[in-house]
Amino acid sequence: MKLRLASELTYDSIVDGPGLRMVIWTQGCIHNCYKCHNPQTHKLEGGIMVDTDYVIKEVKKLKLHKGITLSGGEPFLQPKSLSLIAKSAQLENLDVWCYTGFEFEYLINKENPLYMQNKTLLQYIDILVDGKFVYEKKDVTLKFRGSSNQRVIDVKRSLEVNQVILKEEYMEKSLHMAK
Ligand code: SF4
Repeated sequence: MKLRLASELTYDSIVDGPGLRMVIWTQGCIHNCYKCHNPQTHKLEGGIMVDTDYVIKEVKKLKLHKGITLSGGEPFLQPKSLSLIAKSAQLENLDVWCYTGFEFEYLINKENPLYMQNKTLLQYIDILVDGKFVYEKKDVTLKFRGSSNQRVIDVKRSLEVNQVILKEEYMEKSLHMAK
């Protein structure tokens, strides 16, 4: 299966979730957040096409990593391909983080045309950082998120009870910046 990436994989991120992480930058985004940091990822037809098998092979090579992060761009525009990759990461005992501009409630709404595909991808995600980047709510002291409206969500627990359960330890501000 094909996946449209915005750039090559990043193998050594320490800012897109806890620990050492491989980041998969998806191409294409429809949210158009004001002052987005990655405007080059917005074009739906841009980026580079790769095979999911290639990404899965790279995931299987990871040795010292805590996990992988799906970012972009908007990962939930390509849920089928990313489900294969996220599943393979979990089979390697890697945790899976995902950044989305959609809100959790929208992704799991049964009226959403991509509901089934979203649910499949969500079952292979451990932590979801949801919501658009809101410049007026930008806060550089937040851990792993850009603006205070965004939520760090424990996906497994949230799916169990069908409502958002926050991962409180990651909703805190960065220790070195906190007052
Ligand atoms: S969701 Fe992310 S990539 Fe898309 S416009 Fe907003 S900040 Fe940019």
